[in-house]
Amino acid sequence: MASHERVVVVGGGLAAASAVQSARESGFEGEVVVIAEEPRVPYERPPLSKGYLIGTDAASSLSPHDLRWYRRHDVDVRRGSRTVALDPAGHTLEVESPEAGRATLEFDRLLLATGARARRFSGPGAGLRGVHALRTLADSTRLRTALRVGGRRVVVVGGGWIGLEAAAAARGYGNDVTVLVRGGEPLEAAIGIGLGAMFRGLHEQHGVEVRRGVSVTALRGHRGRVAAAVLGTGEEVPADVVLFGIGAVPNVELATSAGLRVDDGITTDASLRTSAEDVFAAGDVASVWNPRLERHLRVEHWANAGASGAAAGRALAGAPAAFDEVPYFFTDQYDLGMEYSGYGGPAADAELVVRGDVPLTAESAPDAKREGIVFWLAADGRVVAGMNVNVWDVNPVIQRLIRSGRVVSREELADPAVPLDALAGDTA
Ligand SMILES: Cc1cc2nc3c(=O)[nH]c(=O)nc-3n(C[C@H](O)[C@H](O)[C@H](O)COP(=O)(O)OP(=O)(O)OC[C@H]3O[C@@H](n4cnc5c(N)ncnc54)[C@H](O)[C@@H]3O)c2cc1C
Repeated sequence: MASHERVVVVGGGLAAASAVQSARESGFEGEVVVIAEEPRVPYERPPLSKGYLIGTDAASSLSPHDLRWYRRHDVDVRRGSRTVALDPAGHTLEVESPEAGRATLEFDRLLLATGARARRFSGPGAGLRGVHALRTLADSTRLRTALRVGGRRVVVVGGGWIGLEAAAAARGYGNDVTVLVRGGEPLEAAIGIGLGAMFRGLHEQHGVEVRRGVSVTALRGHRGRVAAAVLGTGEEVPADVVLFGIGAVPNVELATSAGLRVDDGITTDASLRTSAEDVFAAGDVASVWNPRLERHLRVEHWANAGASGAAAGRALAGAPAAFDEVPYFFTDQYDLGMEYSGYGGPAADAELVVRGDVPLTAESAPDAKREGIVFWLAADGRVVAGMNVNVWDVNPVIQRLIRSGRVVSREELADPAVPLDALAGDTA
């Protein structure tokens, strides 16, 4: 851990921020450089479709560390700089910035935390004014400006987390909101059809129109502004604002052109090391070997970025780093907050067990509380995932239950009187 070493982190999200913090906390005393393409210090994105979009969170609250923190910890954050080439064997990067032009930067160890970008609509009309995507603070600021006017026709294309959160924000500003979903239900790919229906019911109760089984093939404009989303059937859905929430694409190009192994993301072992000895990857861009699943897993979630970034920071410091977190995700929509942990998703063979009041349909009673826990069970009776809805402080025990690999009885799992600690095999 000699102090003449230099570690470089490429990225400007939570994985980068966590890595730098953990490298310093692990005792690394050498030079730390962060190359971040966006014009600000690394920041967190969840508020971009929640608190920041609805106007309750300030931009200054998005960064885990402010510029003073980086200065105090002797970290050189080069904002607005882009890494354009990597030579893993030669331990060099090519970095471009408007001020300094192109320069070569040597490193001893490198972290690629380049994250992902919003998938863009590329059909006719994509360039019209009023068409949005949501990934960066700049995107969220633009969208907020458009939504805040109120009384506009907002069309959200895509029924994923970001689309639904933005739909809730758009309603909050008093807009007419239509969500266009290609599949049978929103969130179907993430949490399955029953829970997807529950989220649809939630939005419908708040006045959002959710149209299912439709796809947008074009946008029609009027004087350069979007006027309608055109469906595959030719039908037009009038729109003043269109947000595409159609997924994210991992930023693997730098790794690919450097000859690193890349599959769905940058392939790493369980210690986040890529196919090059001194190059690590973390966060949304990393496809990490998961010993539990015995396959690589790429996770596009905040907690994963934080935890894998922290583990990679230890590796940058020259300390051993292992990464084995259970994937975790949260969302807030209207008055519903939920956390999800695990590997269940929509797996066709997973069985759902509900403890409490979480309807698996859109048509729940108007007074349904939507308060409880849903568990995903593998065929052999092990809990592989759990989602707590408007119930708090239970996620750690849900994670322990998943990790324990214990076979549990469905009746006990569904019974709120049976403590989860007992099912997880915790001893007091
Ligand atoms: C609107 C929104 C809401 C979200 N809400 C939630 C949520 O509620 N819960 C949840 O769990 N997750 C949520 N997520 C996902 C979560 O934000 C991501 O998992 C997290 O941002 C990943 O962090 P990261 O550091 O890996 O990458 P990113 O945050 O994508 O950051 C990567 C950074 O690297 C920079 N970069 C890329 N290439 C280069 C290069 N060549 N040179 C220099 N810099 C480069 C990019 O500009 C970017 O700043 C949300 C994401 C979005 C967009």
